[in-house]
This record gives sequence, C-alpha cells and structure tokens, in this order.
Amino acid sequence: GPDLENSYPNSNNLLDPRIGTDLLCVVRDLLKKIKRRVLVGDKVLVGSVDWRDRRGMIEDVFERATEVVDPPVANVDHLMVFFAFDQPKLEPFNLTRFLIEAESTGIPFNLVLNKAELVPEEALLNWKERLQGWGYQPLFCSVNKKAGLSAVKEKLKGKTTVIMGPSGVGKSSLINALRGSEDGSNEDIMNKLFEQNSKWFGEQRVGTVSKKSGKGKHTTRHVSLLPLAGGGFLADTPGFNQPSLIKVTKRNLADAFPEIRQMMRESEPVRCSFNDCLHIGEPGCVVKGDWERYPYYLQLLDEIKIREEFQ
Ligand code: GDP
Ligand code: ZN
Repeated sequence: GPDLENSYPNSNNLLDPRIGTDLLCVVRDLLKKIKRRVLVGDKVLVGSVDWRDRRGMIEDVFERATEVVDPPVANVDHLMVFFAFDQPKLEPFNLTRFLIEAESTGIPFNLVLNKAELVPEEALLNWKERLQGWGYQPLFCSVNKKAGLSAVKEKLKGKTTVIMGPSGVGKSSLINALRGSEDGSNEDIMNKLFEQNSKWFGEQRVGTVSKKSGKGKHTTRHVSLLPLAGGGFLADTPGFNQPSLIKVTKRNLADAFPEIRQMMRESEPVRCSFNDCLHIGEPGCVVKGDWERYPYYLQLLDEIKIREEFQ
C-alpha cells in the first residue's frame, strides 16, 4: 500500500524486495466494528508488516472506483461480455440483455464470441456485420481450438476484468486457459503461507488466494483475481449470470443502446421535442424505428414499465 513510502525510505527503489511482495493479511478489528468490508480488488493500507513471515494487517480501505456485487470485486474497470456462436445457440435478444446490463454498469466492456469453429465462415462475417450495426466491435475466438485468444488477452491487459455471460458458453474454459498460462508459483507460496498460518487466520480468509483444486474445505463461493501475464487481473468467477437490469429505468434504457446514442448525435443540435421522450412515436422524436433492435428496445421498455409499476 501507499504507506510503504513513509515507513520504508528505500521503497521507491525498484530493487527493494518488498515491492511486489504478497502479504497475507488480517483485517483490523476497528474496520470490522464499523462494518467496512474488505473486498477482493480493494486498495488497502497495510500496517504491522512482518516481512519475514509475509504477514500484515489491513488498517484502512481506500475509496472504490467501482463495486461489482456479483462476484464481489472492487475496482473492476473492465467487463467482458462472453457468448458462444452455438451450443448454446447465439440468441440476439438474450445477448442484448447482457449488453444492456453491461452498459448500465458504466464500466467499459468488450464483446467476445466463443466457439467460432462451430459455425461456417460466412456466418461469422454475418454476425460481425450485424453486431457492428448494433454499435459493437466484437472479437471472435475458440477457446478449445486456442484461436483468437491473443486478441482477447490484449483487451485484458492492465485491467481488472469480470467476465459475464450465460452458462455453457465457455467462460470457465477461458479462465482456465488464461490461468494455465500464468506462473503459478506465487499462488502456491500464498497457499502454503495460508496453511502455515491457518490458526492465526481462523476462518477469516477473504479469498485473494486461489485454490487450484477448488474442492475441499472452502465451500463458500469465493472469488480470486488471477494476475495476467501482460499485467492486469481476471476474476476467476464470472458475474451477472442472470442480467437483472436492476439499474435500468424507462428513462435511461435508451442510453444503453448505441444505436439510439448515435441517432441522437447525428440529429444534433435538434433533439426530441419532449425532454422525457421515450422514443415510441412521439411527435418530434429524432429516434426512428427502422433499426434491427428497435423491437428489443420496445420489449425491454415494456418489461421495465411493468417492473416500475409494481415497485
Ligand atoms: P461456462 O458455463 O460459460 O463456464 O462454460 P464452460 O467453460 O463450462 O464450457 C461449457 C462447454 O463448452 C464445455 O464442454 C467446454 O469444453 C465447451 N467449450 C468451451 N470453449 C469451447 C470452444 O471454443 N468450442 C467448443 N466447441 N466448445 C467449447
Ligand atoms: Zn424521442
């Protein structure tokens, strides 16, 4: 943490072995008392450091830029909407739901379509054009055939990413493929440290250390951030499995469609006559209805209206 600089005058020397050293930490009682939770991905102030045994105490938690709830990870700055062309079949309305969910978080995201080897080249080109028409630049890959993965890795570089998508599309396979290419030694050291100190730590383990087996005594769902070779982290648990669209309202749904944002930009400085225009045929509306996903927009708007009425 940033206190390194004050506590250790030499710590801006990159040769200092303490820089980049992982510490196994407990959370200060006071933080627990005031119900300040420490999440995976948090930036924290660490004190009482024992460099030899690599232990420390979390004294404070810094303000979070973002906070994803499922999986619980702080400071996620990138999402990856991950789907497959087939098995399960790529369903445009379901994909739209996930895209709207991603848009509604405000966190930048990329769209990746897996199992590309299952469909003919022509279908790939059609999908590419179609998704570009929606306003996205998708990446295609095949985790099983190890194709297209370097472009995916490029997008993950230097970011903290959570993967989202329906089940069966290959999310775990991708996470494992990326885990496999990493140096596991650090993970092993941390697991060993944890075992050695299990008495001291009790059952407090938050889960920054991943367990390769995934089985055994830790039954609660816990998330780890896998360090990536090119820098950055990937949450080893996918999130948003069931897009709830909880942050989406009648008013902001339109903002989640790149097509509508584009139409608004193009008509500038002219805007919809009504400030609260829902773009459903109001007089003086600048959003036309002649685009592929307009029916999805209307359907989602109906769903949200019903939800809002019952709230
Ligand atoms: P998840 O539910 O999204 O985590 O999906 P999994 O990673 O469990 O994968 C579901 C199934 O899809 C498994 O049988 C994988 O082997 C398979 N799978 C993953 N990637 C590919 C791929 O690129 N091509 C094909 N054909 N199957 C894949
Ligand atoms: Zn309008």
